[in-house]
Amino acid sequence: MDAESLKRIVYDTLSFDCPVERVTDNIYSLELFHGPTLAFKDVGARFMARLLQYFIKKEGETKEVNVLVATSGDTGSAVANGFLGVEGIHVYVLYPKGKVSPIQECQFTTLGKNITAIEVDGVFDDCQALVKSAFMDEELNNHMKLTSANSINVARFLPQSFYYFNAYARMKALGLADNLVMCVPSGNFGNICSALFGRKMGLPVKRFIAANNANDIFYNYLLSGKYEPKASIQTLANAMDVGDPSNFARIYDLHNGSHEAITEYISGATYKDEQIRATMQQCYNETGYTLDPHGACGYQALKDLLNDGEVGVFCETAHPAKFKEKVDEIIGIDVEIPERLADFMKGTKQSIPLGKDFAGFKKFLMEQ
Ligand SMILES: *Cc1c(COP(=O)(O)O)cnc(C)c1O
Repeated sequence: MDAESLKRIVYDTLSFDCPVERVTDNIYSLELFHGPTLAFKDVGARFMARLLQYFIKKEGETKEVNVLVATSGDTGSAVANGFLGVEGIHVYVLYPKGKVSPIQECQFTTLGKNITAIEVDGVFDDCQALVKSAFMDEELNNHMKLTSANSINVARFLPQSFYYFNAYARMKALGLADNLVMCVPSGNFGNICSALFGRKMGLPVKRFIAANNANDIFYNYLLSGKYEPKASIQTLANAMDVGDPSNFARIYDLHNGSHEAITEYISGATYKDEQIRATMQQCYNETGYTLDPHGACGYQALKDLLNDGEVGVFCETAHPAKFKEKVDEIIGIDVEIPERLADFMKGTKQSIPLGKDFAGFKKFLMEQ
């Protein structure tokens, strides 16, 4: 790939604004929710879509490329919107029936064009299993070109490192970048992983904090040096409900498996729903800033772990309106729905109902 083409894709990807907002004297929020679906995954999805589009054109690929993505809510909407209208690519979003919020659902079921939503009568793990089986099915792969778009895909997680350079530059402009601590609410650890890659590339951040909800696998790893995946627990910050983070291996390898090297500059925190609620209420009452349940973990971790002389920036990974029902109930406010989100909600839901058995899913794809 030539430098000019890559540059164009990077600039296009970075066209979303991601401002830092002051919450208290030493804590700032890096708002990563100004993309089309109001969540930070937009930037990775858009970058991946543009990159795939570039290679399809360059290699003169004539067969349509099919992206399969299983989602519990946020990934599907970001990927669907990143790929919307991209020629030569069709996206199939598999989601568990009745298990994604109405706002999330309308973000990928109302698009039409090259986006097909498949409502699976099962849970998220069933959707994931269908996608995995499809990639391994020889007959299906001979019939159509398949690719994935989850956060283990380098093209999806790596461009998120731009965010951190951008944040550093903004904090530097404020004269606050000398002892910077970046705090990332984490689930699959793709986002924080991209920040750690950024640091390897030279980004001068002093240290990092991975903020978890009650899914405390990484937190426990930091304490004990042992990685013990568990079944995920359902929490208020549901985009971080991950019991076996798929990017842990990447962080581990980045440090040659050294627990000492990792704990030298990365610490962790874990918060149960009760604490998340209290944090959202306190933050709103004391500062007027509205946190979503994911950002709340990040804010609280900085409150608990920031040392004197340090300035902390936490990622606010989703707009509070994406979790409106919860945020309204917890804080007792009426979160305004941004126009972009309201527009999705006006659309008509279109999805294809399927069972969780692979035979049915395969038959459907073979007919496309
Ligand atoms: C995906 C997501 C996260 C977790 O990001 P990872 O890269 O999986 O660690 C946090 N908050 C929100 C709102 C998300 O959608």
